[in-house]
Formats: sequence, C-alpha cells, structure tokens
Amino acid sequence: MATAPSPVTSISLPKSKFNEKFSRTEPLNPPQNPLSLLPQCTSLKELKQIQAFAIKTHLQNDHTFLTKLINFCTKNPTFTSMEYAHKLFDNISQPDVVLFNTMARGLISMYTECNDVDSARRVFDKMLDPCVISYNAIITGYAKCSRPNEALSFFRELQVKSLKPTDVTMLSALSCCSLLGALDLGKWIHEYVKKYGFDKYIKVSTALIDMYAKCGSLEEAICVFENMSIRDTAAWSAMIVAYATHGKGYKAIETFEEMRKEGVQPDEITFLGLLYACSHNGLLDEGRLDEAYKFIDELPIKPTPILWRTAGRWEDVDFLRKLMKDKGVVKVPGCSSIEVDNIVHEFFSGDGVNTVSTSLHKALDELMKELKMVGYVPDTSLVFHAEMGEEEKEISLRYHSEKLAIAYGLLNTPPGSTILVVKNLRVCGDCHAAAKLISHIFDRQIILRDVQRFHHFSDGKCSCGDFW
Ligand SMILES: [Zn+2]
Ligand SMILES: [Zn+2]
Repeated sequence: MATAPSPVTSISLPKSKFNEKFSRTEPLNPPQNPLSLLPQCTSLKELKQIQAFAIKTHLQNDHTFLTKLINFCTKNPTFTSMEYAHKLFDNISQPDVVLFNTMARGLISMYTECNDVDSARRVFDKMLDPCVISYNAIITGYAKCSRPNEALSFFRELQVKSLKPTDVTMLSALSCCSLLGALDLGKWIHEYVKKYGFDKYIKVSTALIDMYAKCGSLEEAICVFENMSIRDTAAWSAMIVAYATHGKGYKAIETFEEMRKEGVQPDEITFLGLLYACSHNGLLDEGRLDEAYKFIDELPIKPTPILWRTAGRWEDVDFLRKLMKDKGVVKVPGCSSIEVDNIVHEFFSGDGVNTVSTSLHKALDELMKELKMVGYVPDTSLVFHAEMGEEEKEISLRYHSEKLAIAYGLLNTPPGSTILVVKNLRVCGDCHAAAKLISHIFDRQIILRDVQRFHHFSDGKCSCGDFW
C-alpha cells in the first residue's frame, strides 16, 4: 500500500554540498559578510565569485579579507592560484611578515609540486623567521624529491630552534628514514611520536610500519600495526607490502583476507603488495602476467622500477625499458647508504675508481684479498665495458657502492652487530657473492635492502637462496 507523498517542504532531504553552499548566496537572503562564505569555498572559481561579491560589500581592500583569500590560494597552490594570490598580494599596501611568509609557503609548495625543490629552497632562504608550517613545506619538498639528507637537516634545524613539529613533520621525517634505511633515527622518531602523542594519527602509525619494514625490522612493523586501534586501507596495505617485501608471501595474503573480513576496502597499493607477494612466491603463474601488466599500466600512480619489476618477466627487458621510459623513469647511479651513530653515509658506485683512494678504499682492497683466500672470484663478466682490461674491470667491480657501504659498516660498527645497507638499485651478483662470504668470515649478519627485496646474509648464505 502506497502512502501519499508528503509535501516536499516537510521532509528533510539531504542537501547536496553544492546546494548548501550556494543557498547562502541566494539574492533574497545575502550574508552580511563574504568572509562567512570562505570556509565552504572549494575552487578558485568560487573564490573569484566571493571576491566579486566582496566588491559589492566594499570589502575588497580589507586586509583580513585579502589575507584569507591569499591563504586559500596558497593552501593547495597551483600556478594559476599563485598568480591570483600574487595579484591580491599586490593590492595590499603594507603586507606584514605573516603575509609574506604565507606567500612564500605557497611558492615553496608550488615549486615542490613541480619537482623543483631548489627553487623552493631559494624561497625558503628568503623567509624571515620561518614557522613550523614553513619548515614542513621545505622538509616535505625534499622528501618528495628523494633528497632525504637535506630534508633531515631541516628537521634537525627545526628542533634546534625548539619549534614543535606537527604530524606532517613526522610523516616527512619518517619517509626520509625509509628512503635512507636509517633504522636508529627512525626508532628515535618513534619514541618522539609516542612521547608527544602523534601515534593517534593513523597516517603517522602507517608511516612507522612502512619505515620499520623498509629499514629491515619486520617485527617492529608488526608491533606498530598490532597496537593500532583503528586501521584504514593505507595501514592494512602498508602491512601487506611489508610482509611481501620481506618474502612472507603467505602472511601478506593472510593479512589481506583479514582486511576483507574487517570490511576495509583495498586499493591499488594493496593489490601491488599482493602482486609482489605472489611474484616472489611463485604464486603468480605465467598465464596471469599480461593481466598483471595491464593492471599496473592502468594504475592512477606513477610506477617506480620496483612496481615494474614486481610484474616479473625479466627477459622482456626492452619492452620494460620502453614502458619505464614512457612513464618517466630515468636511470640513476648506484648508491648505497648505511647508518652509523645516527649519521647516514652514502656511497656511490665508482667512487674512488679514478679519484683519490681513501682509507676506506684501501681497507676494501685488503678485504677483497682476504675474500679471495676463501675462494672469492670477482665476476668481471658483470662489467660491460668493451674497452676495459681485466684489472680495470675488477677495480670497477670492487668499488661498487654496496661493497663500499658494507666495508664501512665492518670498520665502524661493533663486532657481532648487524650491518644494514640500503641500495637504490638491484644488488649485483658479485656484491651478493661477496656479502655472503663476508657474513661468513666476519661472523656478521648483513641485511641488504635493494630496490626489489631484502637480502639477509648470515653464515655464508642469503635468505633469497640466490634467486632474486
Ligand atoms: Zn656490485
Ligand atoms: Zn640474496
């Protein structure tokens, strides 16, 4: 039996955001102050409408009003919104430091968005008395452009100035630790997070999971995850990816099943984690590779080499290269880093081949002699330089960034402690063989995180079983 429809006026329909916003600008009932419209404003177009309305109410030159408009433009800056902000800024007869800094922050974020962190830095250097939000902008900028050391030096500067970091600062600092594999610094930040209650932010806890996983400590990643009272898609995905990159494919799938049971929606990162888990456990059969490729190609994110490698199919290198080139992935020099006493040391492949050799290079020369005595044979077939002689090839192989970093670790960390090295590319076969022998003769655990996975070396063996 159908009931008679009630008159439209008596039922409360859920108003759309749009209607709600513009019902306030109805000509019959105009607000007294255009400022009251700002909190609902979501686009530059609407902002311009509000400004037009301001002219009617003679507020267009009001300092507070203009400041608010500029704030809006600089919050999520684009070239157009910054241009507009600049115009508004020019209308202000005596801009104060606060307003100057607001403009500067907008410019920093805009440059960062365009991956031009050096220009962002030039703006930052001109700021008088930058506040924590300005620091966040430059720290995030460096972190986004994969320049973690510079980001962290600003993080330290912020603390020296006793400015209180925010959750955004914590997120950027943690992502820098992940990039560098700086476990000790990451742990220190974790303590800080706990002390100041930043762990109430799901994003911060998720960044902690990611940091621990990428710095080689799966246990601590699990611990953070299990202590979270609320877990969103990103948190679950971070845990799935953590299991996957540590070679625990079945745990990754188990976690995914748990996630579905809890009713949390997966996203592309979740699937990448699963894909990764499958490809490293032989769970991804040949027939599904094309599907995997299609899946990655359609992702709304820019795939990194790690994502492409996840899809397997190494033999199809040309195809892969082309796709990577199309997607804007460029070749980078080999770089390995190791953290000792809270300082991250970076080594680049080829460092010292033609330049002055340091005491580290001499130590590495000695180390290689010792390895040769226990059967190490440099695999010069891995060096692709037609014009190089055998000895030259051996030297270029010897000064690979991961060998330099491991040697540095051996010399500068206490006997028996684990050496954790992070490499930006895939570990080469020769360094892999050398690391196995070093773990055996020096009785050291070596954890090497390359772009693809973790290698845990101990007793002359690697967790990857020489398959990577
Ligand atoms: Zn190597
Ligand atoms: Zn390995």
